[in-house]
Amino acid sequence: MEQYTGKSILEKIAIGKVYIYKKKESSVRREHVDDVDAEIRRFETAKTVAIDQLNRICRKALKEVGKDNTAIFEAHRMILEDREFADSVCRIIREQNVNAEYAATMTGDHFSAIFAGMDDEYMKARAADVKDISERLVSVLRGRETDTVLCGRETNVVLRSRETDKDSPVSVLCGRETGTGSTVSVLRGRKADTDSTGEPVILMADDLTPSETVQLDKSKILAFVTRHGSPNSHTAILARAMNIPAVIGIDIRDGWNGKTAIVDGYTGQVTIDPDPAYLEAMTDKMQSDANKQKLLKELKGKETVTKSGRRIRLYANIGGVKDIAAVLQNDGEGIGLFRSEFLYLESDDFPSEEKQFQVYKTVAESMPGKKVIIRTLDIGADKQADYFGLEKEDNPAMGYRAIRICLDRPEILRTQLRAILRAGACGNISVMFPMIISVQEVLECKRILAEVKAELKSEGIAYRDAEVGIMIETPAAVWISGELAREVDFFSIGTNDLTQYTLAIDRLNTKLDHIYDPHHPAILRAIQTVIENGHKGGARVGICGELGADTTLTETFVRMGIDELSVSPSFILPVRDAVRKLE
Ligand code: PEP
Ligand code: MG
Repeated sequence: MEQYTGKSILEKIAIGKVYIYKKKESSVRREHVDDVDAEIRRFETAKTVAIDQLNRICRKALKEVGKDNTAIFEAHRMILEDREFADSVCRIIREQNVNAEYAATMTGDHFSAIFAGMDDEYMKARAADVKDISERLVSVLRGRETDTVLCGRETNVVLRSRETDKDSPVSVLCGRETGTGSTVSVLRGRKADTDSTGEPVILMADDLTPSETVQLDKSKILAFVTRHGSPNSHTAILARAMNIPAVIGIDIRDGWNGKTAIVDGYTGQVTIDPDPAYLEAMTDKMQSDANKQKLLKELKGKETVTKSGRRIRLYANIGGVKDIAAVLQNDGEGIGLFRSEFLYLESDDFPSEEKQFQVYKTVAESMPGKKVIIRTLDIGADKQADYFGLEKEDNPAMGYRAIRICLDRPEILRTQLRAILRAGACGNISVMFPMIISVQEVLECKRILAEVKAELKSEGIAYRDAEVGIMIETPAAVWISGELAREVDFFSIGTNDLTQYTLAIDRLNTKLDHIYDPHHPAILRAIQTVIENGHKGGARVGICGELGADTTLTETFVRMGIDELSVSPSFILPVRDAVRKLE
């Protein structure tokens, strides 16, 4: 039995088999070679090996995931066999005296850029396929098994497609159509989340981005364990939202793949190959947790009210439609924060008004008669989507993000607001703007909102007016909360960012976790100030940052006069319990 301790994200225990999720290593160095003929022979050999691998994968895929999902690998093989691709690699080796890895990467990048620049959406999506091929070649040249999940011998992970394309030409590398019934760019999605038995697994990875996390099938994941990451990252927030135990900061070893492990979200301890006594003790602990959960469930349907009758609105934070089930299960009284950016992170391009409308409408209709607060796009910082074309910044948390992008590129905001207002006709939707630092920003948001309403009206499209709120997550917003309150219906305090900006601590910097302290008196005083100013100006005040779920502070917040708490679904009943115990 081996034990390691990291930082826990969610207090829950998981026992199961480990699945190690590997990302491809992308950095390839340019190296000078003298013998270009030998280098070209290396490439030709690697190409043959890669084609063999793809043939094997095709045979296996045909058996395991069917014809549709096999076509993608056939397409990869065809591109590899294509003369244009090989000629380009050989030309780069010969003309630049460089190593085959570099030449293959350059060729992949070049062709991938050609695909990405095409108007046709299908062709655009092929860009990732070409990159996968050059990465496969590089893996072979480096003498490694490729980590394509489908062919990983030890992993046996099932890959599922996100869409199914019709017959389409894939080898347009040279403007020639070879034509094949291709499927999809599933490799990018890499929905690798179950073992060969279909049993859910403990997913271990170096790191997971928010978009990777959000694409995982929750029903197949028992726990996350990562080497990197921070408890304040959006990946951690998603783990909480998914109610999945997670531990970060564990030095993961490849040899753990397939072994039994225990993730103890209370202590942050990860145990590999537990001995029978420990396994039994932890199984008991898991059972007693389940009993506790059962007790909490008895609070379902009860009001969130103190003994003296003060009612608190207890809402849920969600990242998408798939979190709604957990909200309903845990008796959420509404949605206090819909992080709409995950809709953008899950897409390969800007989600259309119609697509957004359908999502917001589904959420509104799933919460009949209940409030649903949709926060407009908060992209940037740790939430990146390539198609936004955002430049790399030295200090992204303080950079071009959230409302700053939306006011700079108002078409993005307009599309979203149209979808939100239209969906409002199907429920009780409010709109909330993130990262506000000035009254001018709020006025500008309201001006655009009014224009969008007028537009919908003149087009005869059904919509409903929405309450307007803002996030209070910058010290600037705290200090001008008196003025801001006069402009909006409600405030929602984002304690995650408020802590980051007030304490000048990057919430993703793991070295500073020990001083990232949302209980700091500066944060608690800021919350008190915002509540007082909000109420004076006629705005309701809630908390939707992670601190809202901290039951050691529930009494403090209620005494301060908080109107609403919005928490991850799994914290709804514990917070209700805490409120109901107050005088
Ligand atoms: C916050 O900052 O507290 C918040 C709720 O927003 P996010 O965590 O999405 O930045
Ligand atoms: Mg925030």
